[in-house]
Amino acid sequence: MMIDRETRRRLFETVANRVIANVDELTDLDRAIGDGDHGTNMRRGFEAVLAAADELSAKSFGESLKGVGTTLVMKVGGASGPLYGTLLLSLGKSLADDVSREQVIEAFAAAIEAVKARGKSDAGQKTMLDVLFPVLAVLREGGEGLAARLKAAAKLAAENTIPMRAIRGRASFLGERSIGHMDPGARSSALIIGAVADVIEGVA
Ligand code: ADP
Ligand code: MG
Repeated sequence: MMIDRETRRRLFETVANRVIANVDELTDLDRAIGDGDHGTNMRRGFEAVLAAADELSAKSFGESLKGVGTTLVMKVGGASGPLYGTLLLSLGKSLADDVSREQVIEAFAAAIEAVKARGKSDAGQKTMLDVLFPVLAVLREGGEGLAARLKAAAKLAAENTIPMRAIRGRASFLGERSIGHMDPGARSSALIIGAVADVIEGVA
């Protein structure tokens, strides 16, 4: 698949607009088990991505992903900013304009490892990783209707964080009381994956 300049711009704008449209939900989720800032953190970051989308997409796919990552590190803040930044910077290091599914799998797996290292975290701890890992698994499966399945898997994976107990991040301070709420970072990851899937599918 060729990720040309127009596709890059559509990708960044669709993801940013999707996050911005769902800020209130992210705020509510973070209010339940965190400090209530995940929505505003993400809005700040993705408004900056939106403002720079044209400039960012003029660069190669790899460089533009790094640019998005740097923007998120600088603007999102909180725990999630450096983690999303790490994810995007890592993806940018390995992806070229012409990408195969195999290359995306390799790049995404490496990016998840980078997030794990940065967050000293792993799957099963009620974080964004609980969406990223299942998405990687579906990506590895490949097959028919992949984009729609990636989106559905991400949404379900975020919902599957509800019964989990948080082991990392601010929600872990709540111990047992973190059970029964969706993780805000898992939800924002599902929104981002869903938007990427829509662009791949050609419906956004
Ligand atoms: P903060 O917790 O500093 O207020 P945010 O509210 O923006 O930051 O982001 C919280 C989200 O970040 C969590 O819901 C979780 O998904 C993610 N997160 C926090 N710490 C970690 C970690 N160590 N590893 C992976 N994800 C994490
Ligand atoms: Mg927070």
